[in-house]
Amino acid sequence: MHNIKIADINKRVIIVAHDLTPADASQIQLELIKGFVTDRGGKDSHTGIVAKSLKIPSVFGLARATASINNDDILIVDVVLPGLIIINPEEDTLFRYEERLARFEAYRADIERESHLPAITRDGVELNLMANIELVEEVVSAKDNGASGIGLFRTEFLYLDLKRFPTEEELLIKYKELAELMTPQSVTIRTLDINGDKFNPYIDPVEEANPALGLRAVRFCLENKDIFITQIKAILRAGAFGHIKLLIPMISCMEELVQVKAVIRQAVAELERDEKVFNKDIPLGIMIEVPSAVLMADELAGQVNFFSIGTNDLIQYSMAIDRRNRRVAHLYQALNPAVLKMIKMTFEAARKNNIEVVMCGEMAGDPINIPVLLGIGIRHLSMNPASIPVIKKMVRDIDIEKARKISEELIQFTTVQEIIRFIQEEYKDILPYKETED
Ligand code: PEP
Ligand code: MG
Repeated sequence: MHNIKIADINKRVIIVAHDLTPADASQIQLELIKGFVTDRGGKDSHTGIVAKSLKIPSVFGLARATASINNDDILIVDVVLPGLIIINPEEDTLFRYEERLARFEAYRADIERESHLPAITRDGVELNLMANIELVEEVVSAKDNGASGIGLFRTEFLYLDLKRFPTEEELLIKYKELAELMTPQSVTIRTLDINGDKFNPYIDPVEEANPALGLRAVRFCLENKDIFITQIKAILRAGAFGHIKLLIPMISCMEELVQVKAVIRQAVAELERDEKVFNKDIPLGIMIEVPSAVLMADELAGQVNFFSIGTNDLIQYSMAIDRRNRRVAHLYQALNPAVLKMIKMTFEAARKNNIEVVMCGEMAGDPINIPVLLGIGIRHLSMNPASIPVIKKMVRDIDIEKARKISEELIQFTTVQEIIRFIQEEYKDILPYKETED
């Protein structure tokens, strides 16, 4: 599909593009766009995350997709075998895929039927499975999939869509609506995580050579205090209408947290001065997604009410790979022993300081990771709403005591392949069925 605006598409298509931004993906018309295929990007990029939450079959980072596919080609995008597309399939392949699709849909319907039930392990431990959302409208999907709260509201999409910064009142309307829709369950609102791969030239005209290592998230907010304080005030005010928590992304050192707290104090003082209704006791949490924060987790835990482990970035920054760069996608390893050590360190620091830990990266939504996460001790997981049913099913088949032993035994392994093989062997009876290419 060349030189066509997404908004102008008026028939059912699979979009094949060189690249798609998260904002492009969030604006598509669901009834017309049936899939995404791109040359650039990766499944854990923000565009990938948006596509997954919209349940759009997608393959990112195929390098030669736009060169190999022509307008009006017939395409199959495989949602089970990651990364596979078939261009102009033979009739029998098409037929086989229609059957596969029917089996996949039957499987999903099966697990979705039970997704409103609580997530309790075989030995009776109840887990808190929450949803990550990007738009208030996704509350419907969070509830349909059986989420027990919003564990991560990525607030940047409102900013990306507008060509200016939203006002405090505009933000308040959205956050208040979200708080009220979710009451009595909790909603964790994360402050603006802009730049990195969520770049919008209207917001910050400076294009950086290494955006992932640049003025992203809280770094941008601390440099643009008026924007930051506007958002914090809206969050504190929405806190009067539901159970809201405040989450700060990309903290990489204590100084940043000290500065954030000063901004929050200023927001509180201004709201008091202006006699606004707000909640001054909103729990404050930080994302643990940068290795330096893991190393300082003990000290940081003493200063906040909760941690949220963002594995999408923790993997990116620990393994030194750009999460959008398909050439190093093989190093994007959630179960890498180094990543597991970081998660464990973070969890132990939180436990020692008696604060809650949530995991909200994509790692929490992949069944193979669940035994080790539960074994480490994590009990609060937040994920793409579409992943909740399959994770609930997995949780119900797990025994915490066994998971704890397995996670301890993993220490003997030094490579991700050994870890994956070991888990696959130990949990072969309960890992969801995966079709292999026939
Ligand atoms: C993460 O980094 O794991 C995370 C949840 O945040 P984001 O994907 O928005 O960077
Ligand atoms: Mg992140």
